[in-house]
Amino acid sequence: MEKSETVLPGHARVIIIGGGIIGCSIAYHLGQMGCKEVVLLEKDELTSGTTWHAAGLMVTFGSLSETATQMRIYGRDLYTRLEEETGLSTGFTPVGFIEAAANRDRLEEYRRVAAFNRYCGVDVHEISPKEIKDLFPLARVDDLLAGFYVKEDGRVNPVDATMALARGARNFGVKILEKTAVTGLIKKNGSVAGVKTAFGNIQADAVVNCAGMWARQLGAVDGINIPNQAAEHYYLITEELDNIPKNMPVLEDPSHYGYYREEVGGLMIGLFEPRCAPWKIGRVPEDFTFGEIAPDWDRMGPFLEKAMSRVPVTMALGVKKFFCGPESFTPDLQAIIGEAPELKNYFVTAGLNSVGIIMGPGLGQMMARWIMTGNPQADITGFNMARLHTFQNNPEYRRHRTVESLGMVYQCHYPYQSMKTARGAKRSAVYDRLKAKGAYFRDVSGWEGADWFAPTPQQAVIEKHAWGREPWFGFWEAEHRAARENVVLMDMSFMPKFLVQGKDSGKVLNYICANHVNGPAGRITYTTCLNKEGQVMADLTVTKLSSDRFFVVVTDTIHRHALAWIQRHIPDTAHAFVTDMTSAYAQLNIQGPKSRDLLQSVTDTDLANDLFPFRHAQKIAIGYGRVLCVRITYVGELGYELYIPTEQAVHVYDTLVEAGKPFGLTHAGLKALGSLRLEKGYRDYGHDMDNTDNPYEAGLGFTVRLDKPGDFIGKEACIAKKAAGPLQRRLAQVLVKDPEPLLHHGEVIFRNKKPAGYVRSGSYGYTLGGAVGLFMIEADEPVDAAYVKNGRWEIDIAGKTFPAAVSLTPLYDPEMKRVKG
Ligand SMILES: Cc1cc2nc3c(=O)[nH]c(=O)nc-3n(C[C@H](O)[C@H](O)[C@H](O)COP(=O)(O)OP(=O)(O)OC[C@H]3O[C@@H](n4cnc5c(N)ncnc54)[C@H](O)[C@@H]3O)c2cc1C
Repeated sequence: MEKSETVLPGHARVIIIGGGIIGCSIAYHLGQMGCKEVVLLEKDELTSGTTWHAAGLMVTFGSLSETATQMRIYGRDLYTRLEEETGLSTGFTPVGFIEAAANRDRLEEYRRVAAFNRYCGVDVHEISPKEIKDLFPLARVDDLLAGFYVKEDGRVNPVDATMALARGARNFGVKILEKTAVTGLIKKNGSVAGVKTAFGNIQADAVVNCAGMWARQLGAVDGINIPNQAAEHYYLITEELDNIPKNMPVLEDPSHYGYYREEVGGLMIGLFEPRCAPWKIGRVPEDFTFGEIAPDWDRMGPFLEKAMSRVPVTMALGVKKFFCGPESFTPDLQAIIGEAPELKNYFVTAGLNSVGIIMGPGLGQMMARWIMTGNPQADITGFNMARLHTFQNNPEYRRHRTVESLGMVYQCHYPYQSMKTARGAKRSAVYDRLKAKGAYFRDVSGWEGADWFAPTPQQAVIEKHAWGREPWFGFWEAEHRAARENVVLMDMSFMPKFLVQGKDSGKVLNYICANHVNGPAGRITYTTCLNKEGQVMADLTVTKLSSDRFFVVVTDTIHRHALAWIQRHIPDTAHAFVTDMTSAYAQLNIQGPKSRDLLQSVTDTDLANDLFPFRHAQKIAIGYGRVLCVRITYVGELGYELYIPTEQAVHVYDTLVEAGKPFGLTHAGLKALGSLRLEKGYRDYGHDMDNTDNPYEAGLGFTVRLDKPGDFIGKEACIAKKAAGPLQRRLAQVLVKDPEPLLHHGEVIFRNKKPAGYVRSGSYGYTLGGAVGLFMIEADEPVDAAYVKNGRWEIDIAGKTFPAAVSLTPLYDPEMKRVKG
């Protein structure tokens, strides 16, 4: 190894590992925010990993995430003005960008995305095939339906952009050391304390792993789970073309697997093939630097041919270069960012899924904020690395899932789609029983989650996805109605469960949770956990089993995040310990007006309303099983959650199903759970509320008990929020008055013709008679009942406007009569 030319500093406030676009952007933004003693260590040269060969598309159109779209807009803006500040051009050229829609489903998708992107500030216009031809004369447009054009988007030179960020960072005092590989970490008391290199150690307060496709193996040295995987990624550059039209925009056509732009007088054709090839599953060589992969012409030939047919002139041109380079992909096509749940102050920003140049500036800004203030100040629930599990790091998992993830970039993103590869990793104890009952399963954080039930297992398939009603909707409706009118059984064993034990556990949980969770034993409390700024970090139910034992349940997407949050906030001196019990208990839900009668038929415990009221919990016997029975609901009906030792789950399930026959017990899946809970306005963390919301805005003020004994995290911020006067942001329910259209996510809602928010979660309310969702009203005046009443509410669904009803109180059973009866 070449020796680092500079003597290493002994200490840094922040060490950044990796000098690609991401590392340099974080360095720049830390410097800009005034962070002193920032050191970036690059094992070879800046840009030598993946960044040097990126195609450089800088596109703001296309995401249904508000965080991602804001980052894209910020990135384009920064690339535009960085030269002025640093003297180095980023090569940004606003040639424009067109997304082509070649069939009706794509058109629907892009209309939905366009409305949402406009709401976020992207100036996107739907244009005709003729207008596409005018802008990109080389394209064949006879089979296109429309294009979505953003005039201000364009392309950037990835190396120049990285160098400009690095120059900016140096100007702020950041030290950048090349030829200095990090080999591992120094740790102290559960925190990172520095890094090791071949030339010595550097102590540090925080470390950020931006090692691109090496991030996984570098993390693994210290037991950090970063399941990104390199995959082959291609573009082709043609020979020069006579009289190539000037200023052609970038054109993208997912139906032909390609994007197209001018490149030194020829054309660049970038490819996203539907099934791709992971690269170096075992280990990415350390010395792969400014590297290329030998292209697989045989595998790529058919895709290339298809891509070329969109711009027919390319078929007659010679190929100057068919380039293949590795890019990192992740199990769900979202980046891997945040603070590692395994180690405090160790941050990761990796796994960019081919949008690292687009997202680099925005991610750099957000990560710098996060490292400096402890708060990313943007919704990171979809990107948080804690959502990923260690089994997803297994070679076999990455080998299978990555084949699908690159291809997903250009798939039509239908609302009811689930990843098909790497399935079956986690199955509940009653999986086979549910399968025999006709369950259609989807991937729920790696679990096989029953989504809906067909009358026979043979019918539990989706032949073709759609934006509208799919053939199985009737099964879903029947489950929804059974829950409202009769009784259903749901398997929710995938819900993470923790046991918090110890003499101080009640006191500690009361400090971590905003609600008063340390009342009498045998009670369950729904609560939020807040950060010190009073924003919601998690929502959970806490069941007090006894004075020193508490049973905590959270949603699947925050399994590791919530566990780490609780662990990290137990004071060192407290006698309290948290254990992950997810595998120890199955969870079966019995919900609906007849749930008490059914349950009573299998247990000797008297379940009468006065003896076992809402929000109470007790151990009961069901057959030979001992079950923790909690009277609670997430669907808005009389109902019970049963926590069953895993080895007794099949027995208890069989007992319930047999006893359920005279009651007409119906199996119900997650689709019904979604439609039922949205009618009732129940929240789902990470979907309709996130780390930027405070509980009052989220309509969860009842989970904040300012009057309880002792302090709790976020208390001061909550007091200040209450004192600040009426809320101007509030989560509300929306119901589409026309029973026909469906809500999925991202549909924009208007109040008196002015955008007021977008649907965070949507479903179909079979009882309410229309599509229903939750959205955050963003106003510049107090949002109260009068504000809602005085508004004329409409919603844009795929380019059409429909009248809507909006409510701050649950549209279904606001008085809780059904739940408490
Ligand atoms: C063919 C192709 C086309 C693409 N086109 C686009 C596009 O048009 N638009 C877009 O947005 N994105 C595009 N991308 C994706 C984009 O290039 C990546 O997302 C981005 O470059 C990733 O940046 P990074 O900083 O995470 O990784 P890298 O650039 O790989 O940087 C990581 C750095 O970490 C260093 N490192 C690794 N281990 C260590 C260690 N132990 N110690 C010190 N340093 C270490 C490496 O040497 C490397 O320099 C494309 C990718 C490919 C392959």
